Amino acid sequence: MATVHNWQLGREMAYPYEATYPERQFAFVFNINRCIACQSCTMACKSTWTFSKGQEHMWWANVETKPYGGYPMFWDVKILDLLDRANADGRGWTGAPSGERPGPYGRFEGRTIFEAERMLTPDSARVLGYLPPDEEWNSPNIYEDNPVGPPGKPFEWHKTGATLPEHTTWFFYLARICNHCTYPACLAACPRKAIYKRPEDGIVLIDQQECRGYRKCVEACPYKKSMYRGNTRVSEKCVACYPRVEGKDPESGGKPMETRCMAACIGQIRLQGLVRLNRDGTWAEDRRHPLYYLVHVAKVALPLYPQFGTAPNGYYIPPRWVPRPYLRQMFGPGVDQAIERYETPDRELLAVLQLFRRSNLIIYRYEVVEGPKVYEGTLRGRRITVYNDTVIAYGRDGEELFRTTVEEPVHVRPPQHANSI
Ligand code: SF4
Ligand code: SF4
Repeated sequence: MATVHNWQLGREMAYPYEATYPERQFAFVFNINRCIACQSCTMACKSTWTFSKGQEHMWWANVETKPYGGYPMFWDVKILDLLDRANADGRGWTGAPSGERPGPYGRFEGRTIFEAERMLTPDSARVLGYLPPDEEWNSPNIYEDNPVGPPGKPFEWHKTGATLPEHTTWFFYLARICNHCTYPACLAACPRKAIYKRPEDGIVLIDQQECRGYRKCVEACPYKKSMYRGNTRVSEKCVACYPRVEGKDPESGGKPMETRCMAACIGQIRLQGLVRLNRDGTWAEDRRHPLYYLVHVAKVALPLYPQFGTAPNGYYIPPRWVPRPYLRQMFGPGVDQAIERYETPDRELLAVLQLFRRSNLIIYRYEVVEGPKVYEGTLRGRRITVYNDTVIAYGRDGEELFRTTVEEPVHVRPPQHANSI
């Protein structure tokens, strides 16, 4: 085992290979507060990549209802249970989540899936995991819209009303794709070395010629985003729509373009980009990059289950109404600060949130031009002022992609076209 730096955990970590990092890393932010589970993303992916024979139960992109839903069923409960057993001495997060040292979320003292496996069975597999049985892949949207109800009565609604900060009856939609992890468990576990991480953008791919279908990646990926295809007897996974990211999509005009699931998002929850990395795998300071801003400056977007140790590159703005203990185990100790900032956004955050889904081209930089004050009032006991600022998005070559304002324009249909668009 080598020792690598995992900035999400605020410490060094054991990993089977020496660390190498791409120049830029494929990353994304999903704003859970906006997801309506329309499944447009799921179908955009399905109709592009997994519509063939043998892929019937394969959903590289999926949206599940938490806490009961999951694809495959109970994937996170199962891996968390394994990790709990490996951390039976109660190890967890320490330190202040607000500081940059040891990490932005403090320091994770527990064992990751790479360290736990070594402790439990020193000579066996390299990664703690499990292989879901076939039936657990069969119902990708099981428990859709089923809420947590009163104690002892799951799936029932509370009879009383609900108010923030926490609802007593709750569920939320968790949209998921492969996280194109910095330390991929799938790659670490493959005995054929058939999985690789591209040096130019950090996208993790399975070489279909090299794979022999041992399913070690399926067993190892804690997010269960590597999948086995029975009729070809090889494993497949999300390819991050790499031809689009490379600018090869005919519609892109040669410019880097976001993936199909991002582009299809009706709820406008998704923003994807390519972030610059330092030599130790941390994010290089890039103050005007929207993902850098959301993850490292505003700190409203958090990694999904950072304690697994893969350093996932998918980040989530957590749902405001969900009980905090549930969110803390899912996104780490940065949850409270993230929700507080999201609930009462400052001027820059409000502007950056307007960048989501205004274009399918990848944004590399933004600028905010100040506009007039349009609202002053009180929100959940706090003073809030809203300005109609303009945010301008720039592409790879510094060209302006679009500009938009905080206030959305209102279009009034003329009377003769009242019922048409
Ligand atoms: S999410 Fe799973 S399949 Fe994707 S890179 Fe990470 S470990 Fe591999
Ligand atoms: S398209 Fe967007 S809003 Fe619809 S389910 Fe997917 S992530 Fe949610």
